[in-house]
Amino acid sequence: MPRQARRSPNETQAVLLRPPEESQRILVALVEMSLRLHKPMSEEYQRQILKDLSSYPVQAIEYSLDNWGRNAKVLPSLADLLQLLRSWMADKITFETCGNCDTGWVDAGLDDKGNRAVKRCACVSQ
Ligand SMILES: [Zn+2]
Repeated sequence: MPRQARRSPNETQAVLLRPPEESQRILVALVEMSLRLHKPMSEEYQRQILKDLSSYPVQAIEYSLDNWGRNAKVLPSLADLLQLLRSWMADKITFETCGNCDTGWVDAGLDDKGNRAVKRCACVSQ
């Protein structure tokens, strides 16, 4: 008798704050990096990176993954990526925000646990 595999419906909850099109851009950059290094990534690795980097602007993550893919030989650890992200952020420290947000952050309402959440304002995520 065939048995159906079941997937947890909660799997992607941790990345919900980032719009799907941004997550998609990051996944594309992750795959490109993986191909350049010729190192396969697990789905768990991709999901963890998306979750760990959920508060960083998408273009900073794209820069970091592109940079790593060109210079390294193994997949990056979170610490590796955070180092690149910090150097990108340091360069962009004087970016201008739209004036309607709190230094690039806006209220994202309550999360599923009732905690107040914030997300990146559109003025810094383009
Ligand atoms: Zn803004």
